[in-house]
Amino acid sequence: MRTIESLGSLRSRTVIVRCDLNVPLSEGVITDDGRIRASLTTIRELRDAGARVVLISHLGRPKGEPEERFSLRPVAARMAELLETPVAFVAQTVGADADAAVTGLGDGDIVLLENLRFNPGETSKDAGERLAFAQQLAAHADAFVSDGFGVVHRRQASVTELAGVLPSAAGRLVAAELEVLERLTDRAERPYAVVLGGSKVSDKLGVISHLIERVDTLLIGGGMLFTFLAAQGHDVASSLLEKDQLDTVRGYLAEAERRGVRIVLPTDVIVAEAFAADAAHETVAADAIGRSSFGAAAIGLDIGPDSAAEFARVIRESATVFWNGPMGVFEMAAFAEGTRTVAQALTDTAGFTVVGGGDSAAAVRALGFADTDFGHISTGGGASLEFLEGKQLPGLEVLV
Ligand code: ADP
Ligand code: MG
Repeated sequence: MRTIESLGSLRSRTVIVRCDLNVPLSEGVITDDGRIRASLTTIRELRDAGARVVLISHLGRPKGEPEERFSLRPVAARMAELLETPVAFVAQTVGADADAAVTGLGDGDIVLLENLRFNPGETSKDAGERLAFAQQLAAHADAFVSDGFGVVHRRQASVTELAGVLPSAAGRLVAAELEVLERLTDRAERPYAVVLGGSKVSDKLGVISHLIERVDTLLIGGGMLFTFLAAQGHDVASSLLEKDQLDTVRGYLAEAERRGVRIVLPTDVIVAEAFAADAAHETVAADAIGRSSFGAAAIGLDIGPDSAAEFARVIRESATVFWNGPMGVFEMAAFAEGTRTVAQALTDTAGFTVVGGGDSAAAVRALGFADTDFGHISTGGGASLEFLEGKQLPGLEVLV
């Protein structure tokens, strides 16, 4: 992996830095600035080296055209506060205003360009369109630093093509994330537990097949637990269920048994009458979801207290823990306890703990934990999962 050193002296050189500044926003206010903070090491270093720093990022999923609610403007303001240096913002990614802002930079100056995904070239399926956009981005730059770890699993103009048109290197965040993931894949101390939850069920199942060879225990919570319960023949009423994954999940259960890997499923769950913060709810046995007071309407929204306690016990006894995906709908107080108990257990264990996933990271912060309570909080959910699945990540391949 080429690091920033490979770019030589950066004084008075224009360096374009791909960051992942995709922070959650609520009515224009940043609700978790973790990704901005994680970007600062590289930015400070480049600034202090006298580089002219051009920051680029995406935010949300605009459809290739400007949409005010996905503007990066609030991010520039927050970054300026954190850096205690001005961070200019241009409401354009490529074009006359962006050109003027970039060519007007002095040594150590920083500018953030507008959301990359306002341009169709960024995420185009057509390699030629991506390349054309990357060339426009590169027009006034001397070097490229790839530091958006959250997007290195994507084949997108600012991630892959841009690295081909400029001298390029990995930033400090990408290097640090990679170091942790390599430790989790090749050098994990045993016992090794992986806790999976969240709502992107099919995205996360792939990681199980790869990790099953490496871990001692898999703990399953969040939305995916219902596909596991259904695979065991239980009625999950209106809970999140991916029917087309039932056979895959049965395969994992059988393989885990063959290999002597423990898959721990919740024994109790909290079900609600509706998907709402104030919905009536009760705790039921995991095999009795269909028999709760809410009948077929019951939705499982958190793991129950017995399960949370058991998960915590396994976590505390582990030397390595990787956690991706909240245990329940932590955004609603009534369904946040499972996530809180698991987070607390990670902070209590003496082992090496890693939290991956945008919502998981936001959850631990929202529940009042500090980043330093964990061994590492990854900024990339999908990217870290794909790495752990053993996939080659296109955004890393171009930096080798
Ligand atoms: P991450 O970003 O950490 O990878 P995901 O994006 O997969 O995690 O999932 C996060 C979301 O999962 C949260 O918004 C949470 O409300 C939701 N979630 C957790 N448990 C459930 C559940 N039982 N049913 C529906 N959604 C759930
Ligand atoms: Mg998420």
